[in-house]
Amino acid sequence: ADLDVGVDLLAVERALRESALEDELYVAFQPQFSLRQNRVIGFEALARWRSHLLGEMPPDIFIAAAERSGHIGQITRLLFRRSLIELKRWPEHLFLSFNLSAQDLSDRAFILGLLDQIRELGIAPERVEFEITETAVMVDQEMSAAALEEMWKAGCRVALDDFGSGYSSFGYINRLKLDKIKIDKSFVREVHTNPVSREIVAMILTLCRNLGLSTVLEGIETESELAALQALGPDVVQGFFFGRPMTASAALA
Ligand code: C2E
Ligand code: CA
Ligand code: CA
Repeated sequence: ADLDVGVDLLAVERALRESALEDELYVAFQPQFSLRQNRVIGFEALARWRSHLLGEMPPDIFIAAAERSGHIGQITRLLFRRSLIELKRWPEHLFLSFNLSAQDLSDRAFILGLLDQIRELGIAPERVEFEITETAVMVDQEMSAAALEEMWKAGCRVALDDFGSGYSSFGYINRLKLDKIKIDKSFVREVHTNPVSREIVAMILTLCRNLGLSTVLEGIETESELAALQALGPDVVQGFFFGRPMTASAALA
């Protein structure tokens, strides 16, 4: 995501160092909805930080700061553990989707540590999905490929996030072992104003269907956006229209 240039990353890094992160970080959960099954099938975990120094901080900002300050590993481990504990309380058919940063992905031992957490908690690995981005994979392609291999061997699933944004290349669909593609919300945003956006969504859905990959259409905010895209037969949808990121107890309810 684009960083707000108005935010002082150094101040954020300082706050990361001077805070009891275990007390200030928490996880929000946003539902993924299957149109075919007409029900929620899983939740994406989204990092939240209520800082006593800076107030509520957006995750794309503090994750970027944490990557620079060296806090990212600690943060990912903590949020992942909390997310898994929630997953354990959910009905068996629901999965958890968890975002990984570039640095998380370029450390094979670190990934093995996350996979250990799944085992220690006695969670079925196929209920856990990791979301990665092309940008993150590009940072260290070889290490990322090894990390994905470990996830795959452990029985977890891998989703390619924000597909179609930034430096997208179809090469990654070819090279990486993926289960799912998440179509970037920018296409949904433009569906009423730019006819090309709808065609791109149609093309990605067809491609994924032919390759046996599942898809998530992200960022559906309104009924009219859903109506405009429903005819394309998207598999799974996610967005404010179906549910905003919510507290763990709201997700459980
Ligand atoms: P993302 O992975 O693409 O997550 C989806 C973002 O879109 C979330 O923003 C979510 O609140 C927002 N969203 C969902 N539905 C809609 C909608 O209908 N309309 C609009 N306008 N937005 C919608 P959030 O929570 O602010 O997260 C921003 C980004 O921060 C995430 O983008 C992800 O890249 C990163 N992030 C969040 N949590 C984590 C984490 O635990 N680890 C890492 N490495 N990155 C994270
Ligand atoms: Ca994501
Ligand atoms: Ca996304």
